[in-house]
Amino acid sequence: MSYIQFLGAAGTVTGSKHLVNTGGNSTGKRGFQILIDCGLFQGPKQWRERNWQDPPVPVGQIDAVVLTHAHLDHSGWIPRLVKEGFRGPIYATPATMDLCSILLPDSGHLQEEDAAFYNQHQKSKHTPALPLYTFEQAQACLEYFQPISPDTTKQLFPGLSFRYVRAAHILGSAMVELTLKTSGGSSRLLFTGDIGRVRNQELAPGKVVHSGPEEGETADILVMESTYGNRQHPTDDPRPQLAAVIRETGGRGGTVVVPAFAVERTQKFLFMLKELMESGQIARVPVYCDSPMAIQAVEIFMKHSEEYSQETQRLVTQYGSPLTWPDFQFASTVEESKRISQSKDPSIIVSSSGMVTGGRILHHLAQRLPEAKNTVIFIGFQAQGTRGFTIKSGASEVKIFGEVVPIRAQVVSFEQFSDHADAPELLEWLWTFKGRPTRTYLVHGDPEASSELCDVMGRKLGWKVQVARWMEKVEV
Ligand SMILES: [Zn+2]
Repeated sequence: MSYIQFLGAAGTVTGSKHLVNTGGNSTGKRGFQILIDCGLFQGPKQWRERNWQDPPVPVGQIDAVVLTHAHLDHSGWIPRLVKEGFRGPIYATPATMDLCSILLPDSGHLQEEDAAFYNQHQKSKHTPALPLYTFEQAQACLEYFQPISPDTTKQLFPGLSFRYVRAAHILGSAMVELTLKTSGGSSRLLFTGDIGRVRNQELAPGKVVHSGPEEGETADILVMESTYGNRQHPTDDPRPQLAAVIRETGGRGGTVVVPAFAVERTQKFLFMLKELMESGQIARVPVYCDSPMAIQAVEIFMKHSEEYSQETQRLVTQYGSPLTWPDFQFASTVEESKRISQSKDPSIIVSSSGMVTGGRILHHLAQRLPEAKNTVIFIGFQAQGTRGFTIKSGASEVKIFGEVVPIRAQVVSFEQFSDHADAPELLEWLWTFKGRPTRTYLVHGDPEASSELCDVMGRKLGWKVQVARWMEKVEV
């Protein structure tokens, strides 16, 4: 029997990992097994603990990995997979491959830092606490990556091929359209990964990659994300309010701290700040981009111009690389980061991780959250159970490095920057399908989001839809 098994992002938004098994034959030969995405679980402990569990099939019997995009909740378990013995090819688009080459080692570095911190403070039940994987192990996995350009069909094994189709989510993102020969003919499985905003620029100001997921798809089985399955993004332009918040914070001598994913979201935000400064809507204060990969991230962003939206193309032509802008400083080293942390003058600090689950943003927030003159601006999704979620939801304190930090700073969130289609946008995309899938499984959503989208799709489209459960196997 050929099947899909949902090893992650089922009942939650992280840990994307779907096993496709082509089924053995009558001679007892096992089928081919591939993983679509290989992401880290993030957020609450009960999910993160799953990062330590072995997959239900021996790692050495997984033949290939096909990645949809570089976000760690889709790619961050690859170093662990390789550490455990995987030696097959890892397919990704060229931009995804470039992004993984900085994101995965950085993730290894963070895993090591976490383990060291727990050992130092003896907070772990396991002594010594070990990293899930190290910086070096993450670097070692990069040799298994192979670039596949969108729209080329890659034959994986006899009877199994795939092609990437545009997802319009982040730089390099793509859906995986898998064609599997079956006894009755062939079956097309479409794994969406994360789905970007719809075509209309007005609805998604500041959109970096070309907008609109590929239209006119057909699939027998659709495995679709549902992050915003029960929500709608605001459609107004965030820039006037953003400028006002930055002006007010500067006016009271405060600093603006922006947790942002280091790649793309950060660059998009920097271009927006640049425009606000050039048009005189905000003052020219120092902007610090603080991440070990700050400079490389800009370089990768500038390299993949084939991915740009028209708006991004215009901004890049007008302003050139952020690395050349006088008010913008890129901190790669720990010393540079510490200097930013100690600066007293009004400034804007953009740092990762975007959901405040780790990284240098922790130091900046520990420092700035207790003072009312400062402002924290969220420009990205905050998964339940993350510190970002806690701060954003109006809590009076948050735990950082084991200490309770009072939250007195102003907290503002903008939903317009999302790289995920919202519920109406998802439906708009689904209406473009040429062939209705026989079955649809919803993944990558909190339970309320997935089940609401499931209902709406059933009612409005008449499709057969169900919410995928963790470890569930479904026949193909
Ligand atoms: Zn993503």
